[in-house]
This record gives sequence, C-alpha cells and structure tokens, in this order.
Amino acid sequence: MKETVGITALVPPELIYACGKRPMDVNNVVPESSLSPGSKLCAWTAIWRDMILNGGLDIDSLVVVAGGDCHNALVDGQKVELSGMATHYFFYPFDRDTDYLRSQLEKLTRFLGGIKDERMFSLISDLKLKGRALDELRVNDRARASDVFSALISFSDMAGDPDVFEKMLNSVPETDVEYSSRVALIGVPPIYPDFHETAESFGLHVVYDELPYEFLRLGGSDLDSLARSYRDYSFAGPIKNRVELIKNELQRRRVDGVIHYTQFACHHTLEDEIFREHLDYPILTVQGDLPRPSPEQLKLRLEAFAEMMEVMP
Ligand code: SF4
Repeated sequence: MKETVGITALVPPELIYACGKRPMDVNNVVPESSLSPGSKLCAWTAIWRDMILNGGLDIDSLVVVAGGDCHNALVDGQKVELSGMATHYFFYPFDRDTDYLRSQLEKLTRFLGGIKDERMFSLISDLKLKGRALDELRVNDRARASDVFSALISFSDMAGDPDVFEKMLNSVPETDVEYSSRVALIGVPPIYPDFHETAESFGLHVVYDELPYEFLRLGGSDLDSLARSYRDYSFAGPIKNRVELIKNELQRRRVDGVIHYTQFACHHTLEDEIFREHLDYPILTVQGDLPRPSPEQLKLRLEAFAEMMEVMP
C-alpha cells in the first residue's frame, strides 16, 4: 500500500506520484464534513486540522503549502506537526523565481524519499489533457457544470488513484445543457457541496472554475519543467497576473457574469475590490463559512443575479 501524503493546497501531484506516494488533498473532504471545529478562523483549515488530529484522515505525512498561499494553513499545519505528524512546508515564490521554486521542489522530493517512477509524469499529464477536454465540453454546453466541477476539483490529487480517477473522468455524462446565462466562479472553491447544482437550478451555467483550472493548466515532466510551470500558480503570485489570466478566460468562455466566492476569515476576500475594479462584468460576491447545503440567502442572491443578467441588454 502506497503511503498517503496530505496536501493543504496545490502541490505538484505528478511529483508525489513519481516519488511512489499518493497525494490526498485534505480540503476535498471538507464540504461533506459535519464537524464543528474547536477553534477556527477559516473553516477549511480548521476542519482538516481537527480531522487529522482526531485520526479521521488516514494520512502518513503532511505537506503544508506555507508560502504564497494561506497563512491559516501554516498555523493549523504546525498544530498537526506538533501532534507528531511528519510535516513538510512548501513555499511558492511570490516573484515567480524559477530557481527558487526548483529548490523547493528538490527539498520536497527529498522529503518524499526521491523519484522512483518517472512514468507517472506522463501518466498524470495525459489525465490533465482529459481534464481539459472535459472543461471544454462544458464551455461548449455539452456537459453539466456540476458534473465537470466534481471531476476537476479532484485534479489536485487525482482522487488518490490515477486509474480509478480516469474511470471517473470517462463516466462524466455528455448532455445538451440549457441555461439562461454563462457565469464564471472565481476565488477559492465554495464550501457548499451543492453550489453548482444550486446555480444550475437558477439557469446559471458555470463555464469557468478558477482554482480547478489551475490544477489542469500547470504540470511538467521533470523538476525543471515543473518549476517553470508551477511558478505561475496564480493564487500564490501577484494578483495582476491572476487578473490577466481571469480576463482571458472570461473572454474565451463568453461569460455573462462573474460570481466571486469568498470564505469567512480568508485573506482572499480582500481581493474583491480589485476584481470589481478590473473585471468589466456584473459581479456577485458571496461568502460562506461552515460546510452545509447552500443556505436560503445564497439561493435568493443567485436567483436575483440570474434575473438581473436575463434582462441585461
Ligand atoms: S479559504 Fe483562504 S484561509 Fe481558507 S484555506 Fe483557502 S486560502 Fe486559506
């Protein structure tokens, strides 16, 4: 049985697989969790922290994305380390320095015990091509966003098993999608597990999920190419690059409006005014806290947003 490496945000999954281990994105269990965390700011980190400390997550070690992404994860990750878990801290360079990221990838490789199976690089790369094809399918109205999102969000860890994950990708149904407006979902992913279904129920077709697209967009076949690619991980770098990337995708995907999901106690919430200044689209900002079905107030706001876009010229 392969050792399981918990990851708190994007860490190149191809490298973890190539080192003979299986990644588990500890965030992916949070939306379905009913746990009430003891002390918390952001519910994402507080819930995975408590799940690990309570033995509710079966991992052998933890890689905390500590630099360039989330300081809540940095603190909650240290609480996990203090409990005795083998823990490594991975830093993205804010200035997108390729040499720095390469040195981080080398340290990570050493923590993971060294590269043992280089074939995993091309296998994961092929899966990402499939994911991009799936993403295009919903852009072309040939797949439901809720089905596509469920698949794409697992590209951070390939659901822990690339073979099983490939079957999951192959099983996403093709269908003609009917909708009233095309929307993009930017920001961290919603903590509400039924968010996409709820948006669909109001005629909103989500044709862009910002973070899962980062999982698909980045990759590589060795440490050099991984460093050149992952230095562009937009959530960890300057927001002006992220805004440019989002703008291109909004245009390419012919979006009518933007939903900016924010999470209670997350620093990314402060980015809302930057998006509002630089994205020339109707924007709805919503905020979640604990995982649960989409609350009534969110449904009312999505419905009003959908109606507003329907009457727009
Ligand atoms: S939502 Fe924000 S604070 Fe919470 S884990 Fe993600 S980046 Fe960190």
